[in-house]
Amino acid sequence: MTDLSRKRVITAALCGSWPTKQMSPYLPTTPSELADAAYDCWKAGAAIVHVHVREADGSPSIRYELYEETINKIRAHKDCDVCINITSSGNVDGPDSERIDPIIKLKPELASYDAGTLNWQHRTVFSNPPAFLEKLGYALQEANVKPEIEIFDAGMVYNTHYYLKTGVLKAPCHYQFVLGCPGGMPSTVENLCFLKNILPEGSTWAGCGIGPGHLPMMMATIAMGGHLRVGLEDNLYMDRGVLAKSNAELVTRAKQILELNNLEAATPDEARQIYGLTRKVF
Ligand code: ZN
Repeated sequence: MTDLSRKRVITAALCGSWPTKQMSPYLPTTPSELADAAYDCWKAGAAIVHVHVREADGSPSIRYELYEETINKIRAHKDCDVCINITSSGNVDGPDSERIDPIIKLKPELASYDAGTLNWQHRTVFSNPPAFLEKLGYALQEANVKPEIEIFDAGMVYNTHYYLKTGVLKAPCHYQFVLGCPGGMPSTVENLCFLKNILPEGSTWAGCGIGPGHLPMMMATIAMGGHLRVGLEDNLYMDRGVLAKSNAELVTRAKQILELNNLEAATPDEARQIYGLTRKVF
C-alpha cells in the first residue's frame, strides 16, 4: 500500500453557480468547455473535479441532460480517471427531486452536501432545509455516492453531528470548508482551526477561501494537514487584478505550493483511498 501521508488531494471547482463570463471570459460553462477544463485540471494535478452545469445563456442549471453530457464528455477522455463530484446545489429553488435525481442517476464518486441553510452573500437564501438534507443523505447512501459535506458556518458541522447520530450520514465523513462567503464564516486561520477541531474523529477535510482568502486559506490548510480546493467557482484571480486564464492554472499553482512544502498532489486513485471513495471509472 502506498504511503499516503505526504499526499494531498486537489479538487478543482470548475465554475460554480455564481461567476459569469462577464466576470471572467475564462469561465467554462458549456458541457464541452467544462469537460476540457476537467481534463486539463486532471493533467495539471487535480484528483477530483467538482461540477456545476449552466444553461446556454450561462444561468445556473440542474438539468439532468446537461450533467449527463458533461460527465460523458469527461469520461470520453479514456486516459482520464479523475474522480467526479456533482453539486446538489446548482439551483436551490426547485423541488428536492430535481436536486437529487441527477446524482442518483449518474452515480458520481462524490456529491456536495451543504449541511444547512444560510443567507447567501446578503442576496438570497441558500436553502438546505432539514427534510432535503435527510432525503439527500439517505439517497447518497443508497447510491453509494460519498457526501462532500460543504461547510460555510460552524452550525453546519454541528448539524452533521446530529445526522451521524440519526443515520442520515455515515462515518467516516469528508468535509469541505468554504470560508469567506458573505453570510458564512470569514477566511481566518482561527475559524479554520475551530472548524477542524469540531470535526467527528476520523473525518477527512479540505479547506478553501473565496476570493481574496484563496491563498491564505490554502497556506493554512496545508500547514494544518488538510486537502485543497481551487478553481474559478471560488476565485477568478491569479494575482491582484490578474484573472486566472484557466482552472488548470490554479491547479498548477496549488501543486507547486504543495511541492514547496515537500508534499505531493494525490492521484485520483490515491484520493479514492484517502477519502474512502468507490472507484467508478472502468
Ligand atoms: Zn459548488
